[in-house]
Amino acid sequence: MKLPKLLLLASLVASAGAQSSSSQGPTSKEVDAVYPDAHALYVDLHQNPELSSHEVQTAAKLAGRLRGLGYEVTEHVGGTGVVAILKNGAGPTVMLRTELDALPVEEKTELSYASKVRTKDDAGHDVAVMHACGHDLHMAAILGTAAIMAHSKGTWHGTLMLIGQPAEETIGGAKGMLDDGLLKRFPKPDAAVAMHVGNTLLAGQVGIVPGIYNTNADSLRITIYGKGGHGSAPHTAIDPIVIAARTILALQTIASREVKPGDLAVVTVGYIQAGTKNNIIPDQAELGLTVRTNKAEVRKQVLAGIERITKAEAEAAGAARAPSVEHYEGTDLVYNDPALAQRLRGTLESALGKGNVVMEEPITASEDFSYFVEQGIPGFYFSLGGADPEKFAQAKAEGTRLPSNHSPLFAPDADPALRTGIAAEVAVLRNLLK
Ligand SMILES: [Zn+2]
Ligand SMILES: [Zn+2]
Repeated sequence: MKLPKLLLLASLVASAGAQSSSSQGPTSKEVDAVYPDAHALYVDLHQNPELSSHEVQTAAKLAGRLRGLGYEVTEHVGGTGVVAILKNGAGPTVMLRTELDALPVEEKTELSYASKVRTKDDAGHDVAVMHACGHDLHMAAILGTAAIMAHSKGTWHGTLMLIGQPAEETIGGAKGMLDDGLLKRFPKPDAAVAMHVGNTLLAGQVGIVPGIYNTNADSLRITIYGKGGHGSAPHTAIDPIVIAARTILALQTIASREVKPGDLAVVTVGYIQAGTKNNIIPDQAELGLTVRTNKAEVRKQVLAGIERITKAEAEAAGAARAPSVEHYEGTDLVYNDPALAQRLRGTLESALGKGNVVMEEPITASEDFSYFVEQGIPGFYFSLGGADPEKFAQAKAEGTRLPSNHSPLFAPDADPALRTGIAAEVAVLRNLLK
């Protein structure tokens, strides 16, 4: 798998020089022509968000629009996934991905088009739903990009493959599409591109991280088994809440005492659930963890440390049954091919202006875009600024930050961000498809 990838990159990089001096970004006229439709889709999707794996209307809207532009569209790839292909002669195949899903968050932005949607989640709980991660903006951008690419076939050649991926937030959608034959039923891409909006960069800017972009992410569910009893008679019980409390504190020593200083490790216990009443010692306690690392050996070390400490704390308390440590989700870090990132940095600088392309540090979020890269496809995952410059400056002066992704207040500055997203995607695609 390694060799063809290197050869491909060598040819991609070799062919880059010829056009690097002229901008491949769309003209403002091209963006203006597609912006109203893209913005209308953004507002519609923002008002009608759907949870992971339930993106039925969302996928249908995106599929319908892309079909209308002349793309060959296949729906229901890995659940609600959408694949839209536009062939334009011989040349490479390039994939551009957007996510489809929203989050169980109650919107508090007070935007005129704020979501008021409520639904039942997979556990049957009534939840509010919001596009709090900006995937609505990614879909709107892909629509604008799709329209420009369809209307300017003289500027590129090859095969453009747009995909709408379900269930990014629950880390299952990319795998679902691959398991459903994404790379067998459709042409295997020579490069894969994705973009993510956030509030750490100004709207109008994009950010690039060559190499490691983010972290490995692992989700664990720990169940500690004690022995229930009356709250007034702890000597007759084995208290799983006390074991859980000791375990949580001991788990924090993995990053601080076991992992080599300088290596990245985050162990967060995001929830603890146990008990029903103040005078009852429950039978068991459940902990939910997220673990982030950026090296395979550290990942292994941290996961083993969690298992060891959890078991030992239960044993120390005299629990009769060993705790269960269930690894129920995991994704590898996203790796940006350094040669591709270097090449596309130049492309984005000439399309958006040098000052609008920021070199960033890796982040500790995670993403299942890594599943595509692991198939031997060189990847380029870049950030799109969403921060309103005035609000950004005000927050900075006050020593605070703008609301991050997943916040009920997350509201990217849609007009410049969406325009920039479209311009950046078109520039990247035109550079890769030639
Ligand atoms: Zn998210
Ligand atoms: Zn996201």
